[in-house]
Amino acid sequence: QAKAQGRDSAHFFTPELNERAQRRMRLESNLRLALERQELSLHYQPRVCAQTGHTLGAEALLRWHSAELGPVTPAQFIPIAEDTKLIAPIGAWVIEEACRQMAEWRAQDLDLPQVSVNVSALQLVDDGLLETLQAALARHALPPGTIELELTESALMDKAEQTLARLHAIKALGVDLAIDDFGTGYSSLNYLNRFPIERLKIDRSFIRDMFEDPTDLAITHAIIGLGHTLGLKVVAEGVETEREAQTLRLAGCDELQGYWVARPMAAEALAGWLGLRRAAADGRGREVRAVV
Ligand code: C2E
Ligand code: MG
Ligand code: MG
Ligand code: MG
Repeated sequence: QAKAQGRDSAHFFTPELNERAQRRMRLESNLRLALERQELSLHYQPRVCAQTGHTLGAEALLRWHSAELGPVTPAQFIPIAEDTKLIAPIGAWVIEEACRQMAEWRAQDLDLPQVSVNVSALQLVDDGLLETLQAALARHALPPGTIELELTESALMDKAEQTLARLHAIKALGVDLAIDDFGTGYSSLNYLNRFPIERLKIDRSFIRDMFEDPTDLAITHAIIGLGHTLGLKVVAEGVETEREAQTLRLAGCDELQGYWVARPMAAEALAGWLGLRRAAADGRGREVRAVV
């Protein structure tokens, strides 16, 4: 029957559209099997203090290596996961896996205070989120504050009044909250002030064009000022160069994340990276003392 349908639909689509529709169908049917086939994994990207370079956390980023399609980027499969409601089981897996990994790192005495998890708007309105979080935190005996959720502005501001209660319930579990891609959506400053959040993450697009477009530099400064006015930490995403890092540091940006610090990496690689980083910091400390 599927075959018959496929032949039928060929009459309605141009070859190009048909190709796209077929790609999309293949992505969707493979995504349905990705969890049970254990094709999903998490990579982690460090976030550091802009002043000291100390590692403050790592963002968990979902990776899908499909047996049939090869690696597929989140930009390609997250929207499909959202359209098909697959984001609920996949999102729950991400939370469980991030908590499991964090507990393992803690058992190894790894110096990583926090893991951040991206959460879709659809997950936020689903009652399952709170239960999933609570269960994962309890199962892995994680202390409050070792997990953070990243939400986008639109996820928060859409139905802000209901969201407010939900955020307070999450906050009550001891989980931190951050607003991701800040500056690309719309925010009610009134709600921003009432949401129990810890950080704003300035969207990568502003950092990327900071030196080409004076407006983007101005917006970056404005977000840092706004965040500090509201008592929030401000994180720059997508920091790729020393020059960007230096400019952000001088602008008072609190935390940096991006290829300049490190690329997202597998869990084992992060443990190695943290070890090297600590050794380098110790080395610098000794040099300074030797000079003094
Ligand atoms: P995001 O949460 O804003 O994550 C940051 C993205 O920027 C990541 O892309 C990261 O690899 C990339 N990035 C970090 N530093 C740099 C840099 O210096 N330069 C450049 N060019 N890129 C940088 P990634 O991993 O492809 O993820 C894309 C988006 O997919 C994420 O954006 C997030 O919105 C979504 N996503 C990823 N994992 C999950 C997940 O587990 N659940 C949900 N709901 N969404 C996820
Ligand atoms: Mg994020
Ligand atoms: Mg982002
Ligand atoms: Mg995003």
